Amino acid sequence: MRRVAIAGAGLAGLTAAQELRRLGHDGEISMIGAERHRPYRRPPLSKEYLLDDTTDVALAGTDELSATWLLGHPATGLDLAGRRVRRGALPPVPFDALVIATGVRARTLPGAGELRGVVTLRGLDDALALRAALAGRPRVVVAGAGFLGSEVAATLRALDLPVTLVEPDSVPLRRPLGEQVGAIVAGLHRAHGVDLRLGRRVAGVTGAGRVERVHLDDGTALPADLLVVALGAEPETEWLRGCGLRLDHGVVVDHLGLAAPRVAAAGDVARRPSALLGGELVRVEHHGNALEQGAQAARALLGVAAPFDPVPSFWCHLYGHRLQSVGFTGAGYDLRLVTREPDGRFFAEYHRDGRLVGAVTAGFVRRLTACRRLLDEESRQPPMPPSGPSSMTGPPGTTSQGATGPVATR
Ligand SMILES: Cc1cc2nc3c(=O)[nH]c(=O)nc-3n(C[C@H](O)[C@H](O)[C@H](O)COP(=O)(O)OP(=O)(O)OC[C@H]3O[C@@H](n4cnc5c(N)ncnc54)[C@H](O)[C@@H]3O)c2cc1C
Repeated sequence: MRRVAIAGAGLAGLTAAQELRRLGHDGEISMIGAERHRPYRRPPLSKEYLLDDTTDVALAGTDELSATWLLGHPATGLDLAGRRVRRGALPPVPFDALVIATGVRARTLPGAGELRGVVTLRGLDDALALRAALAGRPRVVVAGAGFLGSEVAATLRALDLPVTLVEPDSVPLRRPLGEQVGAIVAGLHRAHGVDLRLGRRVAGVTGAGRVERVHLDDGTALPADLLVVALGAEPETEWLRGCGLRLDHGVVVDHLGLAAPRVAAAGDVARRPSALLGGELVRVEHHGNALEQGAQAARALLGVAAPFDPVPSFWCHLYGHRLQSVGFTGAGYDLRLVTREPDGRFFAEYHRDGRLVGAVTAGFVRRLTACRRLLDEESRQPPMPPSGPSSMTGPPGTTSQGATGPVATR
């Protein structure tokens, strides 16, 4: 294996490249990136990066890789039999082994058209544009109170900007964290001056060239200068359509991280079986998962990987609270709010069929560590059916969370 191509120059792609070098791969590594930037950290983009223009998000170690950086142009197709990644009119990139690490793309608001002042936040260029817009002290509407929308609302309140947060569900974060934890987050938003509109959807935007009003589905028109659309993300797999890999709300990989012989997928884009969930396919949009899967992809390509089933975890910053999780959390599981303190700290567990599958906390870190230990042990149990690329031809498993299976989004 001389030539490794890595499609997606983000965290998972970089980690795969670093692990390849660490394990002694001295052949070519081509990093194909749609963005013009070398890999950087996304978590600060919804947090300190919006507050402080000296925040450095660059990821270290890119110079030492001796990689060929093919940035600013996306991969547009995969010729699996011919072992080449296409890049539009540019020369294709031949490979002996491939890592697919193209992440996800932000959902947009249907019908928002080309109005200025309607933004999404996924990449560094988005964050630069958002930060520039904040200088005009806009009235902000945030559509979607998931992790990203909640975090952006909290950060903008730290700048003392007026923020209306619109969420169709009954509480923020209900799907990823459940009703009771979502209610705690709703309380935090309100206590910090966010105008929280629950059970409402953004139905449209109007303005002369730029956003002036955001319309909700109950007829309310909110005056606004900026609309941040935070409606979740879709796996970036368009470029793989028809290539022969199994695509099912992500690139489906086996317990080693392989989608086909010598083709691995890692990070937000990959969907893998989880032993903790009885072999169900999961896709995880968390920083830590990109690190773990990126390294696993390298090991799988070099033939030194052991079956792998990391327990996901995330963190999120809200008004000085650090929310942290381990395992699988969400409205699809049996939520037990174990502790709730008046100062905002809490600890919640998630169970399925009587078994602990996840936990989330603000403040009770030691308890969370204990849960992690337990879940790590559970995930090392072997009940997972073999699901190598050769056996991945059957219909997708359905799950308690719907036909696409659990998606641990941040
Ligand atoms: C604003 C923000 C805040 C976040 N905060 C947290 C947090 O606090 N905690 C946490 O756990 N997680 C957080 N996350 C999630 C975390 O950043 C992601 O899980 C992680 O970046 C995933 O890494 P990845 O390499 O799989 O994907 P990405 O980092 O998205 O990298 C994928 C790369 O592939 C490129 N690409 C896409 N299509 C193509 C193509 N066709 N050809 C070539 N390149 C392509 C993309 O441009 C991108 O550079 C946050 C994410 C965002 C956006």
